[in-house]
Amino acid sequence: MMIVMKPTATDEQIDAVVARIASVGAHAHLSKGEEVTVIGAVGDREHVARLGLEGDAGVDRVVPILKPYKLASAQFQHEQPSTFEIGGTKIGGDHFGLIAGPCTVESRDQILESADDMLAAGATMFRGGAYKPRTSPYAFSGLGQEGLHLLAEARERTGMPIVTELMDPRDVEAVAAVADVIQVGARNMQNYPLLTEIGRSGVPALIKRGLSATLEELLMAAEYVLKEGNEKVMLCERGIRTFETAYRFTLDLTAIPVLKEMTHLPVVVDPSHAAGRRALVESLSLGAAAAGADGIIVEAHPNPELAVCDGPQQLANIDFPRYAAKVEQAAMLAGKLPFRAAATAN
Ligand code: PEP
Ligand code: MN
Repeated sequence: MMIVMKPTATDEQIDAVVARIASVGAHAHLSKGEEVTVIGAVGDREHVARLGLEGDAGVDRVVPILKPYKLASAQFQHEQPSTFEIGGTKIGGDHFGLIAGPCTVESRDQILESADDMLAAGATMFRGGAYKPRTSPYAFSGLGQEGLHLLAEARERTGMPIVTELMDPRDVEAVAAVADVIQVGARNMQNYPLLTEIGRSGVPALIKRGLSATLEELLMAAEYVLKEGNEKVMLCERGIRTFETAYRFTLDLTAIPVLKEMTHLPVVVDPSHAAGRRALVESLSLGAAAAGADGIIVEAHPNPELAVCDGPQQLANIDFPRYAAKVEQAAMLAGKLPFRAAATAN
C-alpha cells in the first residue's frame, strides 16, 4: 500500500501514520518528494487496509501498489527518477556516472596508476574487484583483504568513490569499510542472504542482472536491499544469455527504457562483460548512454595484455580519455549533464 499525504501534512501527522502502520507489524518506508510525502507500507496488505488510513489526518489517499516490487517501483517515487549522492558524485536523474577501472586489483602500482588515469579522464567512480567470481575454481580469485587495502589507498589518493564486489556475506564488514558502492555480481543476483546483508550494511549497492534473469527478478533482488532501509540501489544490465554465439552475451539495451518505466532506480550498463572483447566496448557504451542509461561501468587496465583476468575486454588506459569524451557526448544526447567537468572540478 502507498499512503499519499496531503501537501499540507505536518511531521506529526506523518509520524502518526508511520506508527499506525508499525502497529500492525508492517514496515513504513518514507519517500519525501518536493510537494508531498508518500509512505510505503510493506507487509500484510489486509492488515494495513483494515487500518482505514484514508480517514487519518493529513492523508490524501491510499493506493495499492500492484507490482510485486514495491519500494523499487516507479510509483513509489511519484514516477520521478532517483538521484543518489555517492562519495561526492551524483548518479541518476540528470546525472551520469562513469565507473571505470580494472577487472581486478592486481598490485599496488597497477591500482594506483589506474585510479590516477581514470580520474584524469573524468571517470566519476573507480571499480576493481578484490573478490572475483570465476567460472573455474582454479582461476585467480582476487587478492581479498590485501586488494581492499589497495582500493582504500586509491580512494585516499584520488578521492574517487570505490565500487567493489562482495561475494560472501562473511566479508560484508571488510568490504563495507572500503566500498562506497558494493557490487553484486551477476551470478549472485539471487543470493538473498547476501542481498539482505548488503541492505543492512547501508552501503549503496549496484546489482548486476543475472545471466538469465528477467527484469522483474532483477527488481525483486533490489527489493531485498531496499526492504532493509538501504535506499541507494542501482541496477546493472551486463548482457544476458541468448542463442547467439558470435559474441559473449547479448547486451539488452531494451532493458534501459523498460526499467525506466518500471522503477525509479538508476540504470547502469556494463559493456565490458557483455562484449567480452575490447573492439565492441565503445559501440555498446555509446548505444547505452544514448538510450538513456544513468551510467556505465567499464573495465580499463594500464596494460590489458598483462591483465590477470578479462584482458581481452579491458580498454587500455591510454585510450580512455577519448572514450570518456565520446560517452559524455552520447549521454548528453539523452539529456544528461556533462560529467567530466564535474569530476575535474572536484
Ligand atoms: C565484474 O564486474 O567484475 C564481473 C565479474 O561482472 P559480472 O558479475 O557481471 O560477470
Ligand atoms: Mn571482469
